Amino acid sequence: MTHDPSCIFCKIIAVEIPASVVYEDESLLAFLDVAPLADGHLLLVPQAHYARLIDVPAPICAQLASAFPILGRALLQVTGAEGFNLLLNEGRVAGQVVPHVHFHLIPRKTGDQLGYRWNAGKYPPGRDAELAAAFQKALTQHPD
Ligand code: AMP
Ligand code: ZN
Repeated sequence: MTHDPSCIFCKIIAVEIPASVVYEDESLLAFLDVAPLADGHLLLVPQAHYARLIDVPAPICAQLASAFPILGRALLQVTGAEGFNLLLNEGRVAGQVVPHVHFHLIPRKTGDQLGYRWNAGKYPPGRDAELAAAFQKALTQHPD
């Protein structure tokens, strides 16, 4: 399994530094975020070191995704939250600080004041079709 000795999440996986682990199996680990946006904020990581989601092989993506509802149900039960945000910051520009791919599960309660900018835009005529064609071409060339 790939391991980066300089990676803080690899160190947690190797039990070299402590973490509040909530779930573990042969390929995944979930633990409390040390600086939570809300009580019970979780991080879910693959045990193998991949810097970014685009590096992760499909079977490991499937294992990560399979854990979402399991962790989500526990999160609602334990925190009393009504819902949660599932968030992945992919790349520094998107806010990724730790270069070991991880999903945030952030509990949400009515009136919790957590929020983010969602500045919805509008496509100029033709741009949506142009983009869809470009995506279809890219995904035909690289279906994986
Ligand atoms: P991101 O900005 O998506 O890379 O998020 C990294 C997250 O990792 C932040 O929310 C940090 O609070 C969290 N974090 C960093 N170091 C630790 C640690 N040792 N244990 C638990 N969470 C951590
Ligand atoms: Zn790592």
